[in-house]
Amino acid sequence: MATIGFIGLGNMGGPMARNLVEKGHELKVFDLSDTAVKALEDAGATRAASAGEAARDVDVVVTMLPAGKHVKTVYTGPGGVIENAAPGTLFIDSSTIDVDSAREVAAAAEAKGFEMVDAPVSGGVAAAAAGTLTFMVGGSEAAFKRAEPILQAMGKAIIHAGGHGTGQAAKICNNMILGITMIATCEAFALAEKLGLDHQKLFDIASRASGQSWSLTSYCPVPGPVPTSPANNDYKPGFAAAMMLKDLRLAQDAADSAGANTPLGRDAMELYEKFTAAGNENVDFSGIINMLRGK
Ligand code: NAD
Repeated sequence: MATIGFIGLGNMGGPMARNLVEKGHELKVFDLSDTAVKALEDAGATRAASAGEAARDVDVVVTMLPAGKHVKTVYTGPGGVIENAAPGTLFIDSSTIDVDSAREVAAAAEAKGFEMVDAPVSGGVAAAAAGTLTFMVGGSEAAFKRAEPILQAMGKAIIHAGGHGTGQAAKICNNMILGITMIATCEAFALAEKLGLDHQKLFDIASRASGQSWSLTSYCPVPGPVPTSPANNDYKPGFAAAMMLKDLRLAQDAADSAGANTPLGRDAMELYEKFTAAGNENVDFSGIINMLRGK
């Protein structure tokens, strides 16, 4: 069992840290929110007074923070993780952040002799609580092997994507496919309605034809064909539209930075910008069908 410093105990980090405690790891935890720290203390973790203190004298540091700027501050800022960790400590950042920041922080860690992996997750709060997340891991083979048993305590699938930043790249490429296919699926159902084609009939045919995708068969944006999809529950998330927009923005930032041409990714981002600006941040991302219908 390992001694782990865990920083960022929000909607995702809280249940992930709890799973590590339950699997027998010893946790030192820090968050800017006292309530979040208290909840982990009650679950058996030890409170740290700062990110630096959480990183001191542990085998592994895990971070689950909102965005690249928070990850940079926590690792490279004064009194942060890199300044305080003992030699040989492994760093795992599971936040969803931009590829450039992930590579920058990993380079800063390596320059001081530390191994680091970016390990963003697929799966939401329910998967974090159940310990069934999928981790996409970027870093060296050696760092991946060290991170794997820690990540196994929080997830069901741990996949090595390649070098630094490729975990983040996998996450945003996957979610760009998801955003685009969801809009395509919504447009098809909205068109079918105008053409007098029944929802279930379109589902039965497209799910066995070349229009098949996860957005259709696992997360159908109209009520009926897939009973577990948020469409059956008035588009309660699920996966909030604001989260989808965050990931589509990261994909476009990465495309701009790398010089990749992603016109549909940009269109999808702009449509989710319009959808969230109309007060739908907390609506499931499949609820965009109502905007596409003109409602
Ligand atoms: P959250 O806002 O609930 O939690 C983030 C936590 O980080 C907060 O408790 C905040 O107080 C803490 N924090 C911020 N700055 C800090 C600092 N400098 N030091 C210590 N703590 C600090 O966010 P979340 O939903 O848990 O998401 C975390 C990450 O996981 C994000 O990058 C998000 O995109 C990603 N993600 C979220 C989901 C989801 O469904 N919520 C799914 C997949 C990935």
